[in-house]
Amino acid sequence: MGPLQVDLPFEYGSQVILKAIELGVNFIDTAELYGTYPHIREALKKTNKDIVIATKCYAYSKEAASASVEKARKEMDIDVIDIFLLHEQESRLTLKGHREALEYYLSMKEKGIIKAVGVSTHNVEVVEACCDMPEIDVIHPIVNKTGIGIGDGNIEQMLGAVEKAFDKGKGIYSMKPLGGGTLIKSYDEAMKFVLDLPFVHSVAVGMQSIDEVIMNTCVFKNKNIPEDVEHSLQKKERHLHIDWWCTGCGKCVERCRQGGLYLEKGKAKVNEQKCVLCSYCASVCPEFAIKVC
Ligand code: SF4
Ligand code: SF4
Repeated sequence: MGPLQVDLPFEYGSQVILKAIELGVNFIDTAELYGTYPHIREALKKTNKDIVIATKCYAYSKEAASASVEKARKEMDIDVIDIFLLHEQESRLTLKGHREALEYYLSMKEKGIIKAVGVSTHNVEVVEACCDMPEIDVIHPIVNKTGIGIGDGNIEQMLGAVEKAFDKGKGIYSMKPLGGGTLIKSYDEAMKFVLDLPFVHSVAVGMQSIDEVIMNTCVFKNKNIPEDVEHSLQKKERHLHIDWWCTGCGKCVERCRQGGLYLEKGKAKVNEQKCVLCSYCASVCPEFAIKVC
C-alpha cells in the first residue's frame, strides 16, 4: 500500500490494516523502504490486539542499523520490534557484507529491543546459508506456485532449502504467494499452494483494499468469499507496475509480443493501451521489478 506501489492515502491505508486485524490477521510485514510505518502506527493505536511486527532495512554498518531500528520504533511508536531483518539478501557474500548490521541487531536482541533477527531473500543460496547460522531466527523467503521472483533457482530448490531451514528451527514467513500480482488469474491455486506447505509458519500477502483483506482472510480461514467482494475484485481495474529498481535491461520489452512495453530514460515503461496483463514480461525480469497492482 506504500508510496512505491499504489500509494494509498494514509487514512485509508490504516483502515485496511485495522480491518485485517479485526478479521484475524496477527502479523504485519513492513520495511523501512515501504514507507508504511505511519499507516501501521495509526492502526496499532486503534487496537488492543497483540500484533507481531516484522520490519527490515538495507543497513550494513552499525550506525545505519541503529538509525533504522530507532526510526522503526519512533515512527511505529513501539518500544520493542518483534522481528528485524536484513532486507533482500542475495548471496553468502551480501550476508558477509551486512555482518556489522547483523551484530548490531543481535546486540539489540540481547537488550530486549528486538525479539528475533533474520533475513528476507529471493535467493535459495541465502536460505541455505542461514541454515548454518544459529543466530538467524527468522527467514522471509519468496515462495509461490511458479517460483516467479526466485533469483537463483526454481521453486523445487527453494522449497528444499526452506524445509531444511524449518527443520533447523527457523521461523519461516513466506512472501509473494501471488508473485507480485502476476498469479492473480490463478488466485485459488496460488493461495492453496502456500497454505498447504507444512513448513511455512506464516504468509505475508500484500493487500491494497478492504475487499482484498476480506477475500484473503476468507481463504486463510477456509471460508467462502462473499459474492459481492469476489465480483468487485474481478471487476477491479489492474495495471502493470514497474518498480523503481528496474535497470533498463530491456528483457521485458523483448518478451512482450503486444508492444506493451518500451524503454525511456533507462527504465521500462508500460503502454497501457497495448498491455493485456498477461504477465509474461514479469517472468523474464531478472530484478523482479514487474508487478500487477
Ligand atoms: S503483461 Fe503481457 S502484454 Fe503487458 S507488457 Fe507484459 S508481456 Fe506485454
Ligand atoms: S526486465 Fe525488469 S529490469 Fe529489465 S527493463 Fe524490464 S522491468 Fe526493467
